[in-house]
Amino acid sequence: MNAPISASLTTAQARRQLLEAVAPVTGRDVLPLREALGRILAADVVAPHDVPAHDNSAMDGYAVRFDCLNPDGETDLSVVGTAFAGNAFSGIVGAGQAVRIMTGAVLPAGADTVVVQELARAAGNRVVVPAGQKRGNNTRRAGEDLARGQVAVAAGKRIGAAELGLIGSLGFAEVTVRRRLKVAFFSTGDEIASIGQPLAPGQIYDSNRYTLYGLLSSLGAEIIDLGVVRDRPEDLEAALREAAGTADAIITSGGVSVGEADFVREILARLGEVKFWKLEIKPGRPMAFGKVGDAWLFGLPGNPVAVMVSYTQFALDALLRLAGLDPLPERPLLRIACSETIKKQPGRREFLRGRVAQVDGVWQVKPFSYQGSGVLRSMSEANCFIVLPEETGNVAPGDTVEVQLFEGLL
Ligand code: AMP
Ligand code: MG
Repeated sequence: MNAPISASLTTAQARRQLLEAVAPVTGRDVLPLREALGRILAADVVAPHDVPAHDNSAMDGYAVRFDCLNPDGETDLSVVGTAFAGNAFSGIVGAGQAVRIMTGAVLPAGADTVVVQELARAAGNRVVVPAGQKRGNNTRRAGEDLARGQVAVAAGKRIGAAELGLIGSLGFAEVTVRRRLKVAFFSTGDEIASIGQPLAPGQIYDSNRYTLYGLLSSLGAEIIDLGVVRDRPEDLEAALREAAGTADAIITSGGVSVGEADFVREILARLGEVKFWKLEIKPGRPMAFGKVGDAWLFGLPGNPVAVMVSYTQFALDALLRLAGLDPLPERPLLRIACSETIKKQPGRREFLRGRVAQVDGVWQVKPFSYQGSGVLRSMSEANCFIVLPEETGNVAPGDTVEVQLFEGLL
């Protein structure tokens, strides 16, 4: 599996390989409904009854029998009772009769249509309804939302607000979800210091571990932070062994560029099966992917922006698949005019940081002037990647470019 680092892959090739390799974790948890928020459903939730359970009124008004309404003029009806939500009218609506009905109340026997109260003229226990009613108007049919036996939420779906409500509407107090993914991560580099420590000459503070903490938190993973690991084979090996012993996936940053990869490769070859990739992208060219023991390894580059690019473009969907999400989210690309010139050589797929905004009522995207792979501020200020495919060359102001919004990525 140890391909030479010269093996060079496009984004599409690398994504395909990652997604084909990983399969969902099998463990499950049974949780009280609210605690399942953000988790991934492990089994279909099937409707045990119709939703709504009965034909009912969608409006406040009068429940009537459509067949006895005068099609060409008003109809004068006698009001024989009231149906409340949660307190049904138990009689039958006969010819020439109406029942006052509230939104959500069960449609009384004999009635098939509701005339909204704004259209009706009530006086005492009579009501006059105008012509022009339609059969079934303002009613909701039993099972219209979900029929009994229908899959309400399919396995693989992430439980958000709508799913909590939907599962609750079926009366389930507990749900079966996939167990949480365990992800261990560490930074590598002799020059990296953790916050709270003084900086020795030539050192920089770690940012990747904090970025990764944020990324993995929004993924809903259980996070195992293994700190900073020095560029020493025995330290790296110990960290990888520890991570592989506890986690489903390991994310490292740094140490995979051409100069350093040989040293890392030698350790990884002993601990597992790892491929080193040179990706046809910018930023984030080097990446390692494979297995250390039973854990998947994502060896991301060291530069902070490259970490975020390679995480969002490669690791994220693989982790989501590992967590059991199915289907994976669509990641739509918007096509939008670019406001500036961008210099680019055909060859690599580039992910520039930019902002989509309205200028004089027209949406456009502006790439930032600072695009260095170490400039993390560009990720903080951006709301999108401008994605320039491999074959694209220079971009002129006004040219249409593809944009990937950060929504759902970060
Ligand atoms: P490397 O791939 O290890 O050669 O790292 C590439 C660049 O990213 C170097 O300039 C590193 O100093 C920087 N870098 C690596 N890891 C981190 C980190 N955890 N936080 C901030 N910068 C880093
Ligand atoms: Mg390094």
